[in-house]
Amino acid sequence: MNIADLVRRNIRELKPYSSARDEFIGEAAVFLDANENPYPSPYNRYPDPLQKKLKQRISELKGVPMENIFLGNGSDEAIDLIIRAFCEPSQDVILITEPTYGMYAVCADVNNVGVRRVTLTSDFQLDIEAIRANADPSVKAIFLCSPNNPTGNLLDLDSILRLVREFRGLVVVDEAYIDFAATESLTRYLDDNPNLVVLQTLSKAWGLAGLRVGMCFASSFIIGILNKIKYPYNISSLTQQYALEALQNERQKEAWVREILSERTAVTAALKELSIVRRIYPSNANFILVQVENAPLVYQKLVEQGTIVRDRSRVVLCENCLRITIGTPSENVTLIRQLSEITTTELTTKSNS
Ligand SMILES: *Cc1c(COP(=O)(O)O)cnc(C)c1O
Repeated sequence: MNIADLVRRNIRELKPYSSARDEFIGEAAVFLDANENPYPSPYNRYPDPLQKKLKQRISELKGVPMENIFLGNGSDEAIDLIIRAFCEPSQDVILITEPTYGMYAVCADVNNVGVRRVTLTSDFQLDIEAIRANADPSVKAIFLCSPNNPTGNLLDLDSILRLVREFRGLVVVDEAYIDFAATESLTRYLDDNPNLVVLQTLSKAWGLAGLRVGMCFASSFIIGILNKIKYPYNISSLTQQYALEALQNERQKEAWVREILSERTAVTAALKELSIVRRIYPSNANFILVQVENAPLVYQKLVEQGTIVRDRSRVVLCENCLRITIGTPSENVTLIRQLSEITTTELTTKSNS
């Protein structure tokens, strides 16, 4: 398979905007090329369009060469750019395996790219036969999420790899929650699989959701395409500096992850004791999918107490399910107390209002 053939023609032929900082290579003392204000406020200069220092650090942390890394304004930017680069509007489609993260379909919709939906099996695994049956040549990319949002489970590695090897388009594996999972990243399969794309983010384990940094790992060809179509200065100087500083403290991230995992165990145990809880799905992420009696009403009652969880009860395979993020120990205690005050009777009795 030649990945270049998968790229939209207009993108393949696109001559990208070349910024002042792109064209100049070398050392200089006087910068009169970008119409910046010469007076030194901390941010008078445009940022590095390719975020080299930050990528260098990410490369060390992830064991992935810099040329195989793209950084976006959140993973959402990478998702959008992948769709824009590879899917011809009103012609090509992406395939998603539901239930899953909502942004794949939203980005496709925004780009007028169709979405083919294949439901996961009842244990939230890939239905390989159904995916095969739906993966015709108009499908340019399959988006998988492992650990999956909102179900929390890992997708079976062998099934993912089988798909990567047999599908003649991109397989994008979103690993936003990989730091919480008892498994290794798929980045180690990049070298052997030119159609594999792995997404990660600083928004979850690294505690930097407000900063907006998403990582995309792929072949240097695919990274080159994304760099060609992104906004020239998509990551601000402030973001690059702050992210670089935060990434020096891997210990802090590991401590947070340990704490969250131990709280995940504690919350799971406490939920098991509640009469309104019907089922707790095992999680490899920093949230738990929980089936309860009457999820919309439980959601509403929690809101009244000032606690917000995610009502996923209208999502396929998630009937009466709430997705609950693991918080601090005291937040988790509050949640469990509030849930324990909701009785099965009030959930099943029809209200008179
Ligand atoms: C939270 C999340 C992300 C993160 O998106 P950012 O834009 O990087 O904040 C990506 N994918 C999934 C599945 C998520 O749940």
